[in-house]
Amino acid sequence: MDTIKLQARLLELRKKIDELSYQYYTLDTPTMTDYEYDMMYRELEDIEREHPEWVTPDSPTQRVGSKISGGFEKYTHDRPMLSLGDVFNDEELTEFDQRVRHDLGGEELEYVVELKIDGLAVNLIYEQGRFVRGVTRGDGRVGEDITNNVRTIRTIPLRIDSDSPHIEIRGEVYMPVRSFEKLNAQRRDDELEPFANPRNAAAGSLRQMDPQITAQRKLAFFAYALGGTIGIEIPSQEALLEDLKKFRFQVNQEYRKFRTIEEVIRFIHSWDDRRDSLPYATDGIVVKVNSFAQQARLGNTVKIPRWAIAYKFPPEQAQTKVLGISVSL
Ligand code: NAD
Repeated sequence: MDTIKLQARLLELRKKIDELSYQYYTLDTPTMTDYEYDMMYRELEDIEREHPEWVTPDSPTQRVGSKISGGFEKYTHDRPMLSLGDVFNDEELTEFDQRVRHDLGGEELEYVVELKIDGLAVNLIYEQGRFVRGVTRGDGRVGEDITNNVRTIRTIPLRIDSDSPHIEIRGEVYMPVRSFEKLNAQRRDDELEPFANPRNAAAGSLRQMDPQITAQRKLAFFAYALGGTIGIEIPSQEALLEDLKKFRFQVNQEYRKFRTIEEVIRFIHSWDDRRDSLPYATDGIVVKVNSFAQQARLGNTVKIPRWAIAYKFPPEQAQTKVLGISVSL
């Protein structure tokens, strides 16, 4: 493609991706499958990789989520809430592993792999053990203060056993599949538009101005990360998950630890036939370098950590899942 055509395509992709992100993140009503979106995003990344001089700070590749809407108070995260890079097959995952090993100078390493829960990332702030604030990821830097809605989620402890002045627990608010199906049945009875998938239903329910509506939606929460935190020393992702359980958070029990990427790949494919039978929606597997010291050495880009990657489940499945849910409604 000649330069002028390529530049026109770049602008077209940015416009389209911005519009799709607005529909997905702000309106909670996607108009395209995630796979189609991901492929457009990839195409934009490829053009920008070829022409780094065309990258601008407002490109969707430089931004987490989308602009945040009004309605809620805004809250600036102590530490940004990042997105994740993604891979779509074993070869791309192997390349990620080679890059990580190279950047760590060939050192031994372990991976912790977790299910990627298809929900909404939130940051929960505890002071002297008391829950004081819940904030959405928003654009990664600034989120929406949804404290009153978060309080209605029963699996989120309002007290934890710690006297630290500030602990931030991060994880995913999601809607269990059964709650999602019930909610959509009710919406059809009420002649309302059903939600496209559990992720959009969770997001729409969490960002309600009336916490009583959120309370009726039966949301749940899996904890998997720490934000800016004072007085807690944890060496690894595995140790963190164990500590989160001690704090009485729900931690997804399907996580495993491996030393080689071949074992990780076997684990991922062990989900090929059974992921649709889980009681919550997952859209992939997250592979994380276990040691926090190694994570720190690998660092982050403006948008994603270099020490983790999301392996997205294959498109056929993703599309069937989206269509499957809307057809069965
Ligand atoms: P993402 O959903 O691909 O990955 C990052 C997110 O994964 C994190 O922010 C966190 O919320 C979540 N996550 C779930 N389980 C996790 C775990 N165990 N550990 C760490 N994180 C975990 O990235 P994104 O930036 O939230 O969204 C981009 C994606 O959203 C796209 O790839 C696409 O699939 C979808 N999208 C779709 C449309 C559409 O029109 N269909 C539009 C915009 C975005």
